[in-house]
Amino acid sequence: MNQNSTAAPGSQVTIIGAGVVGMATAVQLQDAGYAVTVIDRLPPGEAASFGNAGGMPTSHAFPLGLPGMAAKIPGWLTDPLGPLALRWSYLPRLAPWLARFVRASSAENAGKSFESILTLMRDSKTDWQPLLDAAGIADLVQPVGGVVPYRSEAALDADAAMWRMPRQHGLNVQRLSRDELRQLEPTLNEAYSCAMFEPDWQRALDPHAVVVGLAEHFARRGGTLLREQVADIETGPNGVHALRTNQGVRSVENLVVCAGAWSHKIAARLGSKVPLEACRGYHIVLPDPGRMPRNMVFPPEFSCAITPMRMGLRFAGTAEFAGLNSEPNWGRARKLTQVAKSVFPGISVEGYTEWAGDRPIIPDSLPVIDRSPHHRNVVFAFGHAFYGLTLGAATGKLVTEIVDGRPPSADLSPYRVTRF
Ligand SMILES: Cc1cc2nc3c(=O)[nH]c(=O)nc-3n(C[C@H](O)[C@H](O)[C@H](O)COP(=O)(O)OP(=O)(O)OC[C@H]3O[C@@H](n4cnc5c(N)ncnc54)[C@H](O)[C@@H]3O)c2cc1C
Repeated sequence: MNQNSTAAPGSQVTIIGAGVVGMATAVQLQDAGYAVTVIDRLPPGEAASFGNAGGMPTSHAFPLGLPGMAAKIPGWLTDPLGPLALRWSYLPRLAPWLARFVRASSAENAGKSFESILTLMRDSKTDWQPLLDAAGIADLVQPVGGVVPYRSEAALDADAAMWRMPRQHGLNVQRLSRDELRQLEPTLNEAYSCAMFEPDWQRALDPHAVVVGLAEHFARRGGTLLREQVADIETGPNGVHALRTNQGVRSVENLVVCAGAWSHKIAARLGSKVPLEACRGYHIVLPDPGRMPRNMVFPPEFSCAITPMRMGLRFAGTAEFAGLNSEPNWGRARKLTQVAKSVFPGISVEGYTEWAGDRPIIPDSLPVIDRSPHHRNVVFAFGHAFYGLTLGAATGKLVTEIVDGRPPSADLSPYRVTRF
């Protein structure tokens, strides 16, 4: 990217971050003719992208902050199985973020966030397909429906405003009766008496393997993967010209920041202040549950996503705000075994494995996808919160258009780094 904001194909692009966003971006930049280097202190896909729920929805564009949420928060915080957790010692540092989050949760602002997530999500199948095909990993992603079961009609009705959002955009969202739910998901607890159903999704059978597959494809085509920690960034009048890593100095022509929950530190070093927090989630995988739903299931009382995967049945959930460098609270992962037993009576949790990872979240639940206003050879692509797997391919497409200096295929204004 030169001062006219375009980079010549054949020139070099360095990406910080080998998560799903970084690797989906790397492959598309490679397709566009760039010589791409990806730097990560970890092997590909070993941070947030490792253990997500594998959901790739096309209609479920809900931000974390929804109207009415503020009233539910105190109950959740005191419920050990509740979907939201806060480490109280972290509250003073989190307070400014929370204030923005509450503002972003108004009906009007949540509706705008829904629309802007949907812009990136609606075509996620078509965005992902060529990447998966080219990498030879299309079999890792399968069609699936999403079921949100409720324990009473009244509980579903209480979420009516939320379900109006996809309907306002003409998305395929169906209300199911008790009988319809039973037919669709016979292994669910009979206490669930109705549901919302979104038939048109995909799921990754192994989200980590998707990133590894992209990374192998990238490397086979001559891409460079460096396992290094970026410690500092050297800037000059023409933007960023080098990265200082734990292995030395790496010169840079163009830089793309896809560093997930660590991205705000890099953005701040480059002069852009972004209110990004780590929203920790946990998963357990039951290797031999004896109960297997046909679809993805999202019991709203637990805000948990349940996904049949190739290694077993994964329960992924919790939004824990405890600070990026805090130790995971493994008790929260263990609580997911109780969720499992509550949703699928008779399920076996024998031999379960557990995991924790940090989603990068901005109060409006939207990512930053934008050129740095201070360094013309830098593009930011981070903050994908609950949808990084879903939106990885769309993000990589937009980043490639920005790097190329082509008109972006979506209006980028909701994702600007200057919006805060
Ligand atoms: C429990 C849970 C369930 C989820 N379910 C879903 C789902 O169903 N569907 C969905 O679409 N999304 C889901 N997500 C969200 C999704 O996992 C994330 O949005 C996505 O993984 C973010 O990808 P990323 O590439 O931005 O970040 P990451 O995967 O975290 O990658 C960032 C990388 O940057 C590297 N890095 C950072 N700083 C540096 C540095 N200074 N030097 C070197 N390397 C650095 C890190 O090591 C890391 O590997 C879920 C997340 C969680 C936690």
